[in-house]
Amino acid sequence: MRNWNCRLLSNRKIADGVWLAAFDAPKIAAAAKPGQFVHVRVPGGEHILRRPFSIHRVDGNTIKVLYRVVGAATFALSALKAGTMLDILGPLGHGFPAINSGRVILLAGGMGVAPLVFLAQKLGKKRGLTVILGAKSSSGVLCAAAFRETGARVIACTEDGSKGKQCLATVLLENELAQAGGKTTVCACGPNLMLKRAAAVCAQFKTPCYVSLEERMACGIGVCLCCPVPTVAGYKSACKDGPVFNALEVAWSNLK
Ligand SMILES: Cc1cc2nc3c(=O)[nH]c(=O)nc-3n(C[C@H](O)[C@H](O)[C@H](O)COP(=O)(O)OP(=O)(O)OC[C@H]3O[C@@H](n4cnc5c(N)ncnc54)[C@H](O)[C@@H]3O)c2cc1C
Repeated sequence: MRNWNCRLLSNRKIADGVWLAAFDAPKIAAAAKPGQFVHVRVPGGEHILRRPFSIHRVDGNTIKVLYRVVGAATFALSALKAGTMLDILGPLGHGFPAINSGRVILLAGGMGVAPLVFLAQKLGKKRGLTVILGAKSSSGVLCAAAFRETGARVIACTEDGSKGKQCLATVLLENELAQAGGKTTVCACGPNLMLKRAAAVCAQFKTPCYVSLEERMACGIGVCLCCPVPTVAGYKSACKDGPVFNALEVAWSNLK
C-alpha cells in the first residue's frame, strides 16, 4: 500500500446525487481485491482528511468509484474535471474472502452496491450469482445493468413499492435462503441495520455471511483508531481489520 498520483479520467452524474469517477491507477488496479477501498485526498479547503471510497470496478488500468454527494468533500469531488491529478492511497483494508464453491448472494442496500459490482465482476459467470438490491424508492436502486452484465440474476425491492416488491431487502434474502439448496455464501453492504438483520437471517440458515462495514474513518491505515468495530474478540479497526468482516465476528448489539 502507498499513495499514488492518479489522473481523473471521467467524472459523471449517473443518478440523482450519485456520481461515477474513473481514475488512471494501474498499481491500485493491479492489486485491488473486491471489498477494498481507496482513501482519496480531495482538493479543496474545508475537508482536510482523506475520504474513503470502495473500489467499484476495475477495468484494465482504470479504477472506478461510485459515490453519493453528501457533504463538502463529495461535493468538491463531483466538481472536478477530467485531467485533474489526485493523491490516492490504496488499495486499503481487507476485502471479501475468495469464494470457491457454492452459490453466492450479494445483498446491497442503497449505495451498498459500490463494492459489490467489483465482487460480481470477479465472481463472473462461473457462479450462480443472485443480487438483491434494496432501496427506499426506485431512484435508489442502482447498478442493476452492471450486475446483469456479469451474468447475475438481479431482484430489486423498495420500501415504497416504486420498484420491485414492496419490502426490505432482508425479506428477499430470507426467501432466497429458504428456497436455496446446497451451500450458499452471502456478501452484503449497506446500512448497519440491514447488515445486522442479514447477519441474523444468515445465522438462522447457517449460511456464511460477510459484511462490509463502512464506519466513518480518518487515517485509513489503523493508526488513529477512529473507526472501532465491536467484535466478539474486542474492538477492531474498520480500516485495517475490515471493512469486510465475517458477520459471526461482529458484536451486533454494540454496533451503532
Ligand atoms: C470503507 C468505506 C468505503 C466507502 N465507500 C463509499 C462508496 O463507495 N461510495 C460512497 O458514496 N460513500 C462511501 N463511503 C462513505 C464516504 O466515505 C462518505 O460519504 C464521505 O467520506 C463523505 O464525505 P463528505 O465530506 O462529502 O461528507 P461529510 O461532511 O464528511 O459527511 C456528510 C454526512 O454523511 C455522513 N457520513 C459520512 N461518512 C459516512 C459513513 N461512512 N457512513 C455513514 N454516514 C456517513 C455524515 O455523518 C454526515 O451526515 C465509504 C466509507 C467507508 C468507511
